[in-house]
Amino acid sequence: MKITAIKTAATAGHGMHLWVKVETDAGITGLGECVHGGVQAIAIIYELRPELIGRDPMQIDAIFEELRRRHVFDGGFAGALITALTGIEIALWDLKGKALGVPIYELMGGKFRDKIRIYADCQVEPNMDFGEIQRVVDYVLERGFTAFKIDLDIGAYSGNRTRGAGLVKDPFNYTADQWEHERMVKLVEMVTTAAGPDVAVAADVHTRLDVPSAIRLAKELERFHLLWLEEPVPPENVAAMREVKRATSTPICAGENLYLRHGFRDLIVQQAVDVIMPDIPKCGGLSECRKIANLAEIYYIPFAPHNVASPIGTMASAHVCATIPNFLVMEFHWLHRDFWSTIITSKEDIIQNGYITLTDRPGIGLDLDETVARQHQYPGTTWFV
Ligand SMILES: [Mg+2]
Repeated sequence: MKITAIKTAATAGHGMHLWVKVETDAGITGLGECVHGGVQAIAIIYELRPELIGRDPMQIDAIFEELRRRHVFDGGFAGALITALTGIEIALWDLKGKALGVPIYELMGGKFRDKIRIYADCQVEPNMDFGEIQRVVDYVLERGFTAFKIDLDIGAYSGNRTRGAGLVKDPFNYTADQWEHERMVKLVEMVTTAAGPDVAVAADVHTRLDVPSAIRLAKELERFHLLWLEEPVPPENVAAMREVKRATSTPICAGENLYLRHGFRDLIVQQAVDVIMPDIPKCGGLSECRKIANLAEIYYIPFAPHNVASPIGTMASAHVCATIPNFLVMEFHWLHRDFWSTIITSKEDIIQNGYITLTDRPGIGLDLDETVARQHQYPGTTWFV
């Protein structure tokens, strides 16, 4: 079997959802999804196309690593090149599963679990009172989720940087003043009270604190037993992250903007976090993230993927989560979007009662409804040409 064509299309959802279709001379096609690569990833895929046509699509890891190393000067460690290769890689896994008539998890050593626990990203606003927060939490829990995440830092709320007396929070300074610190603690207190003791709550700070501010916050949040505190400080300084982690019993999670095993190595080996959160359809794909998870597993660090993908990228990620021992929970970021199940041909929500159940369908196990997806076509992009 030989690759005969690589085509892309893009949908506007949580940013751009870039679809990669790989066609073969056997008439079998694979579909991958990657996110956060932007229009650069589309251009890179088209530039790589001559190097892929004629290749055996079954040699997934070798194709990925060969192209990555050949183009290392173009960004072979992080960024759009890796995301472009990720979209191709996921399409090749879908194709291989279809060619062999088995789900991807069967090609990756089989399942540790049949169901993948999902947490919902939900939106609470800084000025909500307890009743409003309770309604947001109830909306999530009524959909069957047993875990969710809130944004804690004020920078996450655009146009809402002002505080009492009309003072404006400096968008660049990392120090949390007393007002900001108290607001974050109060928010976690209200949300965890609304959720009750049986629900896992994670809180994201989006890298917006310095080390003393982060330690102070993490220590004060210990009494709320968060699932994790996400990226309290920027993740690129592993020593700073480790200092925060060592100072608190609140679990610290990071990694949504890192790429490849190389990007995660120091974070894991120096045990600078309690939980890692690679974005699978962005940072290297299914093989690479399985390797990242296995590296983390020897330090007993759980794997909780960041995820903003459509049902197809989400299900591709779920195959990885099924095949590793240290899976914790995976994100769902489409709670407030008006399309989700409509862009797959089955039209069924892959998430039922807060879990994705793996099926025995070959490849990823889902197909894109191109007619519906194209209704949300990303402006300025072409459609599978
Ligand atoms: Mg985050």
